[in-house]
Amino acid sequence: MKVCKFGGSSVATAEQIDAVCRIVQADPERRLVVVSAPGKRHSDDTKVTDLLIALAHARLSGGPCDEALDAVVARYAEIAEGLGVPASRIDPISADLRSRLAESCEDKDLFTDSLKAAGEDNCARLVAECLTARGVEAHYVGPKEAGLLLSDEPGNAQVLDECYPRLAEVADRPGVTIFPGFFGYATSGKLVTLPRGGSDTTGAVLAKAVNADVYENFTDVDAVFAANPNIVDDPAPIRELTYREMRELAYAGFSVFHDEAIMPVFHAGIPIHIRNTNNPEGAGTRIVVERSIDNGPAVGIAAMDEVCSIYVQKYLMNREVGFGRRLLAILEDEGIPFEHIPSGIDDLSVLVREAFFPADVEQRVVGRVRDELAVDDVSVEHGLSLVMIVGEGMRHTVGVAARACDALARANVNIEMINQGSSEVSMMYGVKTEDAPRAVRSLYAEYFG
Ligand code: ASP
Repeated sequence: MKVCKFGGSSVATAEQIDAVCRIVQADPERRLVVVSAPGKRHSDDTKVTDLLIALAHARLSGGPCDEALDAVVARYAEIAEGLGVPASRIDPISADLRSRLAESCEDKDLFTDSLKAAGEDNCARLVAECLTARGVEAHYVGPKEAGLLLSDEPGNAQVLDECYPRLAEVADRPGVTIFPGFFGYATSGKLVTLPRGGSDTTGAVLAKAVNADVYENFTDVDAVFAANPNIVDDPAPIRELTYREMRELAYAGFSVFHDEAIMPVFHAGIPIHIRNTNNPEGAGTRIVVERSIDNGPAVGIAAMDEVCSIYVQKYLMNREVGFGRRLLAILEDEGIPFEHIPSGIDDLSVLVREAFFPADVEQRVVGRVRDELAVDDVSVEHGLSLVMIVGEGMRHTVGVAARACDALARANVNIEMINQGSSEVSMMYGVKTEDAPRAVRSLYAEYFG
């Protein structure tokens, strides 16, 4: 059994939904289909989820809702018309939105979640009807009926493990099940949504629950590429990568999946197949537990911007028991997660994301480190990027780091930091952000040129 998930762009228009139906019809093993809400039709379009959030805000601010409501209804009307569905099909969608709008908005977050979920919910019903009209036995099944239980955290709910046994029963349903992504229910019965992009999670949870052979994730690109196409011209597609490689690439900015989204399939060892809705015959990218290493040491080059480094120096630091703990306790107090801690004998740097280190926090942290740890020097360097070379093949290849340093030198990139060792599948170089694109291009040419 295959679980398929179609992202927002795959259901953004009638033509796309038509393509979805053809893909489902092409393979009888595709028996569980998760859909997102209609996404962007073109780059400056607005996703239905964002229209719904705007609608919720309109109501919460006490302003008129008609315009925002019409914008959502218009998106479904356009799809229905394109699919040749009678215009009256829009009435239940409009009624559904109105009834959600009429719910209590005492709890703003729950109210917003209920509206957000309408995007996926109505889309799933529409897709099920479309398949039925084509003679496929297809049924809409919602998260309540199926028992998709989430934690009670509106907008940021997490999947509760206890839901799996009941969810598994979805596999016994006849025909093709069309399931809306992105939302579920708390044990209290309240509708709650997953974090944004949560339909990937719904698909992964269902794939794990029914022990699918594969989790097919249909999107609008042919594959995951070995480097960011905005930086490297025409980068090579990656045909296969392991979960660990995926995690490292996603960490450093590859917009493959939200890292947490695929945890359920990762734990269950179910392969993911990323495919293009508009090129379903294409090879796509497979994410697997193990792969044979026959294509060189690296699978991808990534760069993560907006990093800064807190440099701390203290004579005899290496002999001071508890120094690292006290330093990290200051960051913990301030709620700052750290990324890496490259260290020397009397020095160490803590790399953190700029987003967690605004000027006021920086001032406080620097002051505390100086006063509480009696250091000789503490300073902060901004504008850094982490350039990463990722690949399982590196473990068994001699000279990968030498080639990387050589490529960076050729591109006249100064290496501010090297981090290698803890992870067997990646090597990381801290560079100035203005140098990062040059670094990526040179490393790409070195390993893939
Ligand atoms: N529609 C939701 C969003 O835009 C969830 C998803 O598409 O996965 O975030």
